[in-house]
Amino acid sequence: MLEVSHLEKSFGSHSVLKDISFSVHPGDVVSVIGASGSGKSTMLRCINLLETPDGGSILYHGEDITARKMNVPAYRARVGMVFQSFNLFSNMTVLENCMVGQIKVAKKSKEEAREKALKFLDKVGMSAYVNAKPRQLSGGQKQRVAIARALAMEPEILLFDEPTSALDPQMVGEVLEVMTALAREGLTMIVVTHEMAFARDISSHVLFMADGVICEEGTPKQIFGQPKEEATKEFLARFR
Ligand code: ATP
Ligand code: MG
Repeated sequence: MLEVSHLEKSFGSHSVLKDISFSVHPGDVVSVIGASGSGKSTMLRCINLLETPDGGSILYHGEDITARKMNVPAYRARVGMVFQSFNLFSNMTVLENCMVGQIKVAKKSKEEAREKALKFLDKVGMSAYVNAKPRQLSGGQKQRVAIARALAMEPEILLFDEPTSALDPQMVGEVLEVMTALAREGLTMIVVTHEMAFARDISSHVLFMADGVICEEGTPKQIFGQPKEEATKEFLARFR
């Protein structure tokens, strides 16, 4: 459903993505691991068109997402994103946060948007907070709302960029629990993460990025059990 081929991206003279190719199929849970600065966020941002690729292609159901005729908001409704820093609208309640995209982008009625929002807020265990403002929530709660907001758009693929990295340690678990449940239900996900236990136990594929390339990829069993590349071994040794 998603085919990334020879993706390249530079910032000025700094070549951040050099030649990235991989594909995602329905139900895949792809974990992306790698050192800081290896280009993981830039890759996700290209897939979500928050950055414009410089070379290569990204096909979504065979369609080039960088083509001029692409409807970007509609694409982002199909391929959603959850950020490290939540990016909730601070002036809106939890419920409004989960409704606004449905109304403005997906053109749903208020009633339908409310129903969907409540459904997914319940799913992430945030039903009791529908009228709260983001500032009244803990980091873990904010991230669960951000996940509910993304789910309310009923995306086909959900991208996560280090969804637990900004959280206090005691809140990491509640967010990983939600993500684990989504993975088990078959949601297609690409997850940039430093949570090696999640990558090992939950994902179907692991991409190890280094210096703007996919240095090694495979099943979690291969990557964590028998890494081939020296760089992969060195990276994983940091988490022991
Ligand atoms: P981290 O684990 O720290 O989040 P990352 O693997 O996500 O790292 P990126 O954020 O993709 O790495 O950054 C890769 C490189 O690209 C870094 O050297 C970064 O400074 C650079 N970079 C990212 N975004 C921009 C930008 N908008 N302008 C200039 N340089 C950028
Ligand atoms: Mg990053």
